[in-house]
Amino acid sequence: MSKTAVVTGASRGIGKAIALKLAKEGYDIALNYASNDEAAISTKGEIEALGVRCEIFKADTSDIAQVKDMFKAIKKSFETIDVLVNNAGVVDDAYLLMIRPDSLQRSLAINIQGYINCAQAASLKMISQKSGKIINVSSVSSILAVPGQTVYSATKGAVNSMTQTMAKELAPYGIQVNAVAPGFIGTDMIKSIPGDLAEKYLDSVPMKRFGDAEDVANCVYSLLSDGFNYMTGQVIILDGGLSL
Ligand code: NAP
Repeated sequence: MSKTAVVTGASRGIGKAIALKLAKEGYDIALNYASNDEAAISTKGEIEALGVRCEIFKADTSDIAQVKDMFKAIKKSFETIDVLVNNAGVVDDAYLLMIRPDSLQRSLAINIQGYINCAQAASLKMISQKSGKIINVSSVSSILAVPGQTVYSATKGAVNSMTQTMAKELAPYGIQVNAVAPGFIGTDMIKSIPGDLAEKYLDSVPMKRFGDAEDVANCVYSLLSDGFNYMTGQVIILDGGLSL
């Protein structure tokens, strides 16, 4: 029987690369996104071309009602939920004194509540299956102090903490929860950094390159493999040495 992976924020960037990698490895994909229909439909086409099923689910992960409806629809479409990749996230950097309340609220809602909403809905099904794997996409900013990232680093620190607690709670049900904390990855998120700052960031990476979304996707896939069947509650730093 084929396995199903739910990937949030999978219309583009890291989420898209993860969905494509898992599809290549034979997973059917439930692809979540927030607003960009065109990107989602195009990614669905790329996934289906790999010979697996892909359904798209438009839902704001920070909205519990939308998440509940989405998982109801996913459960109707797919027999099992074997993997949840909590990836949908936003960054809106600002120095402490410049942080706007609406931006703070949005980041907390998507980067923290969104992950909890989806983990809750997915784990309900996984508990009934007595199996499942959850991967939370964190960030190296969770362990590295970057000026301007008070809010972002706080949300990603929360992702690391929730990964440990979820792992402990869900282990008795055969569910593993781990996190990947990428460094600089060349997606739209990175492209929004001004040129001179991007160059400075690049200089600080010992491996002298930004990571690719595929680097993250390969790591996520590895964590789902049997080689990591006894690992739970861990945060894997994937940053080309940036945090050393
Ligand atoms: P991205 O290119 O900006 O893509 C974000 C994706 O998330 C899009 O598919 C977007 O959908 C979706 N999304 C945003 N808000 C959503 C919401 N409320 N509900 C559902 N989907 C939502 O981002 P990325 O760079 O790939 O980052 C993905 C994850 O990796 C994030 O958690 C980020 O914090 C983490 N990360 C990124 C980097 C990096 O260097 N890029 C480094 C470390 C960690 P729409 O297009 O439809 O809006």
